Amino acid sequence: MIRNEEIRMHILRCLALLLFLSVAGTATLGDGETAPARDAKQPVDDAYTAKIKKYTTQPFFTSPLVDYLPASKTVPTPEAVLGDVAGAPGILPYAEDVYKYMRLLEKASPRVKVFSIGKTEEGREMIAVAVSSPENLKNLEGNRAQLAKLADPRTIKLNDEEADRIVAQAVPVYYITGTIHSPETGAPTALMELAYRLAVDESPYIREIRDGMITLITPVVEVDGRDRMVDIYHWHLSHPKDFYPPLIYWGKYVAHDNNRDAMGVTLKLTENVLNTYVDWKAQVLHDLHESVPYLYDNTAGDGPFNAWVDPILTDEWEMIGWRNVSDMTKFGMPGVFTHGVFDTWSPGYLMFIAAMHNGISRLYETFGNGGADTLPRTLDADEYSRTWYRQNPPLPKVLWSQRDNNNYEQTGLLTSLHYFNENKRLFLKNFYLKAKRSVTKPGAEGPSAYVLPADDPRLASQAELLRVLQKQAVEISRATAAFSVTLPAKKSAKPKKDAKDVKDAPPAPTTREFPAGSYIVRMDQPYSRIADALLDYQYWSPDDPQKTPYDDTGWTFGELFGVQVTRVVDPKVLDVAMERVKEINAPSGVSGEAAIYAINNNAEPSLATLRYKLHDASIEAAEEPFESGGKKFSRGSFLIRNATRAQLNDAISNLGLQATPVSAMPSVKTHPVRAARIAFVHTWLSTQAEGWWRIALDNLGIPYDYISTQTISKASDLNAKYDVILFPPVGFFSGPTAIINGLPSAWGNPLPWKNTPETPNLVGKNDSTDDMRPGLGWEGVANLQNFVAKGGVLLTATDTSRFALAIGLADGVSVGNAQKMKIVGSVVGTRLVDGASPIAYGYDEKLSAYCDNGPIFSLSSVSGARGGRRLGAESHTRPTGRGTMDDPDFTIGRPGAEVPDEPKSEIWENPFLNDEQLHNNFRAIPPANRARVIFRYADSKDLLISGLVEGGDEIAQHPAVVDVPTGNGHVVLFSINPVYRGETRGTYSLVLNTILNFDSLNAGRKLAEK
Ligand SMILES: [Zn+2]
Repeated sequence: MIRNEEIRMHILRCLALLLFLSVAGTATLGDGETAPARDAKQPVDDAYTAKIKKYTTQPFFTSPLVDYLPASKTVPTPEAVLGDVAGAPGILPYAEDVYKYMRLLEKASPRVKVFSIGKTEEGREMIAVAVSSPENLKNLEGNRAQLAKLADPRTIKLNDEEADRIVAQAVPVYYITGTIHSPETGAPTALMELAYRLAVDESPYIREIRDGMITLITPVVEVDGRDRMVDIYHWHLSHPKDFYPPLIYWGKYVAHDNNRDAMGVTLKLTENVLNTYVDWKAQVLHDLHESVPYLYDNTAGDGPFNAWVDPILTDEWEMIGWRNVSDMTKFGMPGVFTHGVFDTWSPGYLMFIAAMHNGISRLYETFGNGGADTLPRTLDADEYSRTWYRQNPPLPKVLWSQRDNNNYEQTGLLTSLHYFNENKRLFLKNFYLKAKRSVTKPGAEGPSAYVLPADDPRLASQAELLRVLQKQAVEISRATAAFSVTLPAKKSAKPKKDAKDVKDAPPAPTTREFPAGSYIVRMDQPYSRIADALLDYQYWSPDDPQKTPYDDTGWTFGELFGVQVTRVVDPKVLDVAMERVKEINAPSGVSGEAAIYAINNNAEPSLATLRYKLHDASIEAAEEPFESGGKKFSRGSFLIRNATRAQLNDAISNLGLQATPVSAMPSVKTHPVRAARIAFVHTWLSTQAEGWWRIALDNLGIPYDYISTQTISKASDLNAKYDVILFPPVGFFSGPTAIINGLPSAWGNPLPWKNTPETPNLVGKNDSTDDMRPGLGWEGVANLQNFVAKGGVLLTATDTSRFALAIGLADGVSVGNAQKMKIVGSVVGTRLVDGASPIAYGYDEKLSAYCDNGPIFSLSSVSGARGGRRLGAESHTRPTGRGTMDDPDFTIGRPGAEVPDEPKSEIWENPFLNDEQLHNNFRAIPPANRARVIFRYADSKDLLISGLVEGGDEIAQHPAVVDVPTGNGHVVLFSINPVYRGETRGTYSLVLNTILNFDSLNAGRKLAEK
């Protein structure tokens, strides 16, 4: 009671202070600035306004911009569709309702236009709503043509005076996107009301925005997820006393990571927003989120800033961010701040589409209740603490409503729009300057181009990488003749102090030849910035003051796609004879006719596509390299029979594969490559990480049954249905006990995930259950054990590898915890250990992979023992005695005794067992059952490719991909994550090879003698 009293007194004190501040604030406008307030003559919708007041829980959770609703005789308010005001308790509209309202607005007002911008994976529409003056909307095309000249300064020959002329006349476009994160539910109603205000309010403050610029709004970005979230909320309303199910699926594939797709552009929502942003030549992309009290404008984040953003942009962030805080502070709204903890290093966020395309990226975190209930909200001390960047922090405890959230969102956006409009000439000029600096990059910071050679052994993956760049609106060219460029000399890492070295001639530049047909990504184009950011290397210093990277620290696309990319500084590359390429097609086809065709194996994922496409053909894999007709074929190359040339040609087109007729089967050993029956397992804990695996398999056309751990628990004979079980990473809440036990179920109600009258959109194309809570259970563990014992192949990665090891599915492998190691979403080097394993087919000695802190695998040759972690140099020294380090010792008075010569095993090898250790040791693992390491992590000095690697010696040389024979089957464990965010195509084939060779994984295996 006392505590509540204190809180009430505290709130009252704040209220008094804030009322004083808000009065003081409105009086201090700058010269010529328009007051942020309603015009006294502006008619007001009294009934609507009364409800705004009613649903706002404190008078200081609003502003003079949104505490009333302007009235219109002709234009319907959001109430027409919602049945109440925007932000009313209990009301959460489906995307369809939001669109219905936007189209009502369009019908009633010449100031609103609605555009369809594409469909989601599940076929739902995405829209963009333009609000501006009728004149601006009538002249959209003419204005777009003007903006296009600023966006691509080559069209005006980089003429600054011409740019100034356009800047003085053009109408800028400010693009706002809502609800990419489905449990962050407030934006759609805020944006409905915002569109209405912008369309009808005649107060000067709003009129200036309307006449001066085009506000473009996508009210719902994750449309599939929005509909599921509204379903869940409806279920909650009709079962008010029950727990309601967590939103396990958002979009068809991924959840929170839908805002990490702006590099790979794998999801439709990213592609649609990117296309809209680029097509409209917009200046700003402002994305709305809800996870921080009350408005965190992380436009101006903490460092380190992304190295490829223009410093002009980072200055704009500060200008806009701090002005936004200032405006809202003057309204007396508490808890508005910028700076915060967010670094802008990774370009994966949706808003970063703007940062990487010469615009301005912005993001709000406001405070959402995950639905439309009004709730008491208690904050942690770090949320209400006063910091240098948050002088007016949120209150420790408040009653918070969806309307409060809508007030903050709209107030922030209106002040942002107004400020942007007031300074639009500056921002338009900056837009031009950033584009110009992208075009003049080769002569400034460089490089001049990136070259992807025509003789890359992985042309299908190369084409995929180039298609990502094309989605990013990057222009791709192809050399029409062979050419050469000068590459700078590689500097040695640390110049030695020895005088001798200094006298040596510095390393000389080298020349590299590229064949005709090589792809050139020119850096003298307006969107060179994104190409540079994706193709270059990243280095995050362990000494960086930022100790908690917000997301991945490295992503170099050439490395992760497994294709060659050369950064060329030499400006001569721009003079090479080349042509622009519209469509990227890797050469595919069959070069003749025969009964047998061979396809070389370069670990192209499309080989797996071919296997599943050619159902009736017989395909064998060569277990050793061979030559035929003067051509060399590597291990794992396909030998195809029972397919006509036409069938093969049809199946192979678009796959970037080339088939060669061979006169006879080669003499090397072969085994069948079969289309394995795949079970793809998910939990009901989180589907975040597995979604990236699902979309990869779907895009490759690999069929699978999508089943949950609950299904596994009921399937006593998994081998009858499946050859391979894929258990991709779980992500959040993924400990072994959570996978087995599921969600807590000691109390409370079942949590259904299925279509019901209240939840018609839940299932989509995913999975359903009457109760999400049960996990794999011990029956499921037994079923998995049986599956492997009877010959099945189980494939796990990162956290599911930990799970497989915890339940004893892979003897001889243990997992250690990192002490000081910090590898935060980085690209690391791995090394081939056993090239004869089918899992390694098509791979080279070195392979770059995505790693996020392990896990660290260690091997033991003794059952149940933990493999030791051995750091640094080996320390097997001789005992103290006579002689040098390598000399034999002696003992006075008797002949010397030889120390037995035993093989030393490397960190990635099964430790050698000597006679003593083998004596009557039933725990010794028989050689055929010991772990087979396919890839290991590189040595410590070679571990970092891109990103942050600190304390890497803890994982250096340890196994990265291990095949553990268990019973008659195999458990294949990944420490790296081979399938991630559409960025890691280069490691997909480690998974696909396991699938295709499921019944021949022991091929090429050499066993230890004892
Ligand atoms: Zn969010």
